[in-house]
Amino acid sequence: MTILVIAEHTNAALAAATLNTVAAAQKIGGDIHVLVAGANAGAAADAAAKIAGVAKVLLADNAAYANQLPENVAPLVAELGKNYSHILAAATSNGKNILPRVAAALDVDQISEIISVESADTFKRPIYAGNAIATVQSSAAIKVITVRSTGFDAAAAEGGSASVEAVSGPADAGKSAFVGEELAKSDRPELTAAKIVVSGGRGMGNGDNFKHLYALADKLGAAVGASRAAVDAGFVPNDMQVGQTGKIVAPQLYIAVGISGAIQHLAGMKDSKVIVAINKDEEAPIFQVADYGLVADLFEAVPELEKSV
Ligand SMILES: Cc1cc2nc3c(=O)[nH]c(=O)nc-3n(C[C@H](O)[C@H](O)[C@H](O)COP(=O)(O)OP(=O)(O)OC[C@H]3O[C@@H](n4cnc5c(N)ncnc54)[C@H](O)[C@@H]3O)c2cc1C
Repeated sequence: MTILVIAEHTNAALAAATLNTVAAAQKIGGDIHVLVAGANAGAAADAAAKIAGVAKVLLADNAAYANQLPENVAPLVAELGKNYSHILAAATSNGKNILPRVAAALDVDQISEIISVESADTFKRPIYAGNAIATVQSSAAIKVITVRSTGFDAAAAEGGSASVEAVSGPADAGKSAFVGEELAKSDRPELTAAKIVVSGGRGMGNGDNFKHLYALADKLGAAVGASRAAVDAGFVPNDMQVGQTGKIVAPQLYIAVGISGAIQHLAGMKDSKVIVAINKDEEAPIFQVADYGLVADLFEAVPELEKSV
């Protein structure tokens, strides 16, 4: 049994989600190979080779893979993947873009967003926005799986010494071209990797009021998130959205400010280790999942909290 893990990376560095995906592969058992498809991606491949438990790194270095266009990467993965028992990728935008195409090309069903491995063919995954957990057994010859990063503790980034082997395959499919990207720049930690997340909801009133959360977050070394209502109202950009249709986070500490606790929001944060809620409505459903609840006006509570940190 050999498992192919598709690395999530920026060519220069590996993304943290790759380590969680390798951890899921370790639970399945067998040899683990990591595919780094990119351009000038030697540094990412070297980093993948150092992950504990990785037996081999396949480096597909081609300008066509530079920006991870799924139209180009998926045929490569499908071609290489024929020799593997499992193909795993993180359930990130990239992974969710690439793997369904791979599954279709290999004519197998995809198993999405697993949160645990029961055996080599049986996995657990959330359904109904996380309100139920399904145990799924697959009889597919090649199991194509996306991995929810928060379900698996990261594999050690150091300690391995895998060989790096150059591979090639279908390159530019000619179906799409990379035009450009606008990346949000922030000194704060990335939302899905942060140990502490402070999130604001509609109760923040407007985008300017998020300054209270930024001040608190900066003192705590936290990332700032938001509910969909806050995003839809234009308070903050949508890459800050936490929830069913946003990002899934499971930090050590999640502070929900002016957020009612709709199930779609809870789906994105209820696995956080400690949940703190600040809401002026004592009936707000967020208090049902909160470990610590403060019934208070956020415009008094948050500045006070910030001063005391
Ligand atoms: C298909 C679908 C997908 C969705 N996906 C998501 C998702 O990914 N993420 C998500 O968040 N939502 C999602 N939603 C929307 C979700 O149903 C809720 O509408 C949304 O989460 C509500 O956001 P909120 O809690 O900020 O706003 P509200 O529900 O309006 O709550 C605001 C809260 O702020 C409190 N408040 C107001 N003023 C103050 C104050 N001064 N001090 C303290 N507290 C105050 C209020 O008491 C209230 O509890 C989705 C909905 C659908 C249908």
